[in-house]
Amino acid sequence: MGTRCLLFSPPPPTQNCEIFHSATPSFPFPKTHYISSSRKLHHKIHSTSKFGNFLDLKTECEPEFLNFDLPWFNPVDRSRFDVIIIGTGPAGLRLAEQVSRYGIKVCCVDPSPLSVWPNNYGVWVDEFESLGLEDCLDKTWPMTTVCIDDSKTKHLDRSYGRVSRKLLKTRLMEGCLSNGSVRFHKAKVWKIEHQEFESLIVCDDGNEIKGSLIVDASGFASTFVEYDKPRNHGYQIAHGILAEVDDHPFDLDKMVLMDWRDSHLGNEPYLRVSNSRFPTFLYAMPFNSNLIFLEETSLVSRPVLSYMEIKRRMVARLRHLGIRVKRVLEDEKCLIPMGGPLPRIPQNVMGIGGASGVVHPSTGYMVARTMALAPIVAAAISECLGSTRMIRGKPLHVKIWNGLWSIEKKHAREFYSFGMETLLKLDLNGSRRFFDAFFDLEPYYRDGFLSSRLSLRELSVLSLSLFERASNPSRFDIVTKCPVPLVRMIGNLALESIG
Ligand SMILES: Cc1cc2nc3c(=O)[nH]c(=O)nc-3n(C[C@H](O)[C@H](O)[C@H](O)COP(=O)(O)OP(=O)(O)OC[C@H]3O[C@@H](n4cnc5c(N)ncnc54)[C@H](O)[C@@H]3O)c2cc1C
Repeated sequence: MGTRCLLFSPPPPTQNCEIFHSATPSFPFPKTHYISSSRKLHHKIHSTSKFGNFLDLKTECEPEFLNFDLPWFNPVDRSRFDVIIIGTGPAGLRLAEQVSRYGIKVCCVDPSPLSVWPNNYGVWVDEFESLGLEDCLDKTWPMTTVCIDDSKTKHLDRSYGRVSRKLLKTRLMEGCLSNGSVRFHKAKVWKIEHQEFESLIVCDDGNEIKGSLIVDASGFASTFVEYDKPRNHGYQIAHGILAEVDDHPFDLDKMVLMDWRDSHLGNEPYLRVSNSRFPTFLYAMPFNSNLIFLEETSLVSRPVLSYMEIKRRMVARLRHLGIRVKRVLEDEKCLIPMGGPLPRIPQNVMGIGGASGVVHPSTGYMVARTMALAPIVAAAISECLGSTRMIRGKPLHVKIWNGLWSIEKKHAREFYSFGMETLLKLDLNGSRRFFDAFFDLEPYYRDGFLSSRLSLRELSVLSLSLFERASNPSRFDIVTKCPVPLVRMIGNLALESIG
């Protein structure tokens, strides 16, 4: 509690931009540290002064649980599983649901398998529709808005949706239960031990569980998947609140994907300077005129932008927009490592979701992609472990890692990582120019890039088209700031091709 008061006292007067960055977090980092401290139990609500500091408000959030009678792992019967999945976040549970369709015996291990996930997930509606998951969205907006600056706003004709964490988790759980071959164990995995054709997990409750394949779905902070290159990620960091407000200025039929305006920093010279160099934007989901999700976001930074700085900018922005927050119903600290090397491929632990490098290196999105990739991984697992096959050990690991990361997908990822490296070099004006050109691209390329579905050839077409559409200063940015990442990408592509 004391920390909160300290965090939100006025910033010291200084002009030194460097201090806005905090050291790059080393892994594993406490992903939901802020959430867990602020989401404890129901708190008393305070009112704010004028458009005052919403950070003074206590978050009201009860932990929520699904109501299922789960089939639990029974330590006494010494079951052996085909697959053990560590973590029942979106990635782990989706894989369990998909792989159990083949009759594969699965054990999901998580400290709280029935908890409703904490994060607020947004996806493009067409992504969920193509997976038949559109009924797991609790709100959709027919259009999205990008504010480049005070005088230029773009409206994208692509619907956006908020995932209902409860509906999606319920749907995946129901799938697991009806497939009949999934058991759950409530524990944290401490250790994994491997033998040639079998592995064993050791849990914090002392239980040991054996399986032919261990899948790590424990998220970005995973300690089980190994890397053989230095992890030079960029980081997306954001502070988000689901807020009850007196009023807000946003259209109810449009989700605000990015608002790059900085007029709110007119009287904040310190914040203005830092924002010009390391910009943040507002992401907003208006549910009705009194309920809105607001998130101040640093798209990508390295080292990571300070969380305190983000919150201060958000306070200034909301005050300027005349948004008075009456209640904070949920809050989230979003910290997503982006880009960087892939885990070592293959290795004897399979990764999925945040633990597997599938997060989009230029946007930080991952949920829809993971929902789409899990069936591919499940099919590869079934080919090896299904009833008629007996592929175990190294051949199994090679097959499923290659199923997730085919050579084409690795190539495309190099390109998306190049996109991230480019974004890292752009200041506020550079970012505005870049997105001004980007959101004018043909929807096929624009949407394909955002949804990670373009081939390397299509990504090359996109780059040329982007360059053609870019303003001269933007071209200058690309030519002067991108040679090093470009050369690195070409080198990595060459290595991947011969490797
Ligand atoms: C705040 C936030 C907002 C995000 N918003 C979006 C968004 O709008 N759209 C989008 O596409 N992506 C978003 N992302 C990115 C990404 O989609 C999410 O991080 C997503 O939750 C990752 O899913 P996951 O299943 O891989 O990991 P997680 O959701 O982190 O789940 C991991 C699970 O593993 C469990 N676990 C961890 N360690 C162990 C262990 N040792 N033993 C057993 N269990 C363990 C955890 O308790 C947890 O249940 C967001 C990320 C964050 C942090």
